[in-house]
Amino acid sequence: MNENKILKVACQEIGRTRIFSEDQKQTLTTVFQKRFQQALGLVEAGKVRKYQFSPSGRTVWVVTGRGRDYQVLPDSLFCTCDDYYFRVMEHKKQLCYHIIAQQLSEAMGKQNITEMSDSRYQEVTSKLTTIAARE
Ligand SMILES: [Zn+2]
Repeated sequence: MNENKILKVACQEIGRTRIFSEDQKQTLTTVFQKRFQQALGLVEAGKVRKYQFSPSGRTVWVVTGRGRDYQVLPDSLFCTCDDYYFRVMEHKKQLCYHIIAQQLSEAMGKQNITEMSDSRYQEVTSKLTTIAARE
């Protein structure tokens, strides 16, 4: 079963209908189990943030989990947390709950948006676990 695809399809539907149905919740619970509940908890607690930088239009998604901030790259379904790192290392290719939270919040329109000028880009990203440090 391809988790990425299941999540993408569910989020497209939520985005289109603006309804998060009980059926969808049931499906996502079956597939992701505890991770879905954790992700939904983060969304509802307002822990998914989207920084929008101007004038460049760059965006940075940040999800706060267990006291730390992680950067999620929606296009590649990548996250900077250890959980994601080890899952990929073990070739499990499973999504961490930060990515699930980011995808759900975007579909539901529940992300906290912060607009900033490009001059603060460095300041925001320097506080995050950097992707480069992993390589
Ligand atoms: Zn993560």
